[in-house]
Amino acid sequence: MNARIYNARLIFPREISITDSLDKYVNNINDKSSTKTKTLIDVQAKTQTDIQIQVQTATQNNAQNINRELSEVFIKDGCFVEAYDGPFDYEIDAKGLVVFPGLIDAHVHLREPGFEYKEDIASGTRAAAAGGFTSVACMPNTNPICDNAAVVGFIKEKAAEDGVVNVWPIGAVTKEQKGEQLAEIGLMKEAGAVALSDDGVSVKTADMMRKAMVYAADFDLTIIDHCEDASISNGGIMNEGLASTQMGVPGSPSIAEDINVMRDILLADYLDLPVHIAHVSTKRSVQQIRAAKARGVKVTAETCPQYFIFTDDDCRGYNTLFRAYPPMRRPEDVAEIIAGLQDGTLDMIVTDHAPHHEDEKDIEFCLAKNGMTGLETAFSASYTYLVKPGYLQLEDLARLFCSAPERLIKVGRGSFAIGAPADLTLIDLEESWQVDRFKMASKGKNSAFHGMILGSKVKYTIVNGKIVYSDFQNK
Ligand SMILES: [Zn+2]
Repeated sequence: MNARIYNARLIFPREISITDSLDKYVNNINDKSSTKTKTLIDVQAKTQTDIQIQVQTATQNNAQNINRELSEVFIKDGCFVEAYDGPFDYEIDAKGLVVFPGLIDAHVHLREPGFEYKEDIASGTRAAAAGGFTSVACMPNTNPICDNAAVVGFIKEKAAEDGVVNVWPIGAVTKEQKGEQLAEIGLMKEAGAVALSDDGVSVKTADMMRKAMVYAADFDLTIIDHCEDASISNGGIMNEGLASTQMGVPGSPSIAEDINVMRDILLADYLDLPVHIAHVSTKRSVQQIRAAKARGVKVTAETCPQYFIFTDDDCRGYNTLFRAYPPMRRPEDVAEIIAGLQDGTLDMIVTDHAPHHEDEKDIEFCLAKNGMTGLETAFSASYTYLVKPGYLQLEDLARLFCSAPERLIKVGRGSFAIGAPADLTLIDLEESWQVDRFKMASKGKNSAFHGMILGSKVKYTIVNGKIVYSDFQNK
């Protein structure tokens, strides 16, 4: 596919360095109250706007790959190339639109194989395309569980047949995600797994996590850990607090997450190996990760729009659309997550897209399944709640949605680099739209964003040079 996109405003990822952010941050605090010695772990969200973001040379190198003045993108045989005269299969006048490298979601549940009544690769990748995502990495908690090369291969083949965006399978850490025996990590890597996770549960024991991290490192794979100490969360179905008490619903305390985040940080520190923390939802998790990064621990982390937008008060009224794991937390958690996105503590935004059948959600609060869909709302929600209020800029979203997930799953996407596959997302920032969960491409209609008016609309999603979603065709 050959193409030209012109009049484009290209958005390049702005990389930040946590140590630079923190140096300035601590200096700032010291300036204001020199008598008090602040340790990094005490760093709070209060002066978040004072954090100066450092532009690194990586962005500049990236920028050199494209003629920024002309704002033109050329695609030949599905890849970014230097300017040429055509012929083109299509041309897009992108006047008024912003152009991101194709968005990458490093944490989705496509449900296939086994739970096709909730979602399948065909519907899930169409939902991704509608939300501007050109790549999704899918979690292994399918049936059968993706803990061997055959299931990884099946997902890759099915995605090639039915999918419209790139699908990158994540393999299980342990067999059947039971936490007892390591899965076939090497064979899964050979078959195309891009990371490892027992998502849905934590890797059960510190011993198994240690073995898995050592083994995974040999294959250059990172473990994405769903952090939850099950002995403390103990089946709690929303955040433990005033709301859960008043609602009479068993709660799960935020410390259930914090404990395993700390466990993983300590292992990463001890082994000097990487670990990636899934869907961070608590203030203490953010603070622990920030402090660990500042002392050089190889920890990275993600959060989801629901954790910087909603709180446990949204569960009042027993609305099952707000049931998710981890659960919606308190306003102070939301504030710290936004601070973590600003200063680079949290590396990326993922959706944890978790489609369910209506029958699994349209029931009593305590019986409903955990999880919400997110692919079709994540970018617009992030723009509305992070960029519009001034917490972040578009270049930060390009880091959070493009370059950072690429660093985790290493699939050669997430930039405008010449020679790379041409994945692009074209967005109209001026258009707003009302979320209607019943009109979504996903089979799962369980969007907690239902009824909200969000700013910014995806207009085109382009994968390997091919237009896989156009908002104009959809009208
Ligand atoms: Zn999870």
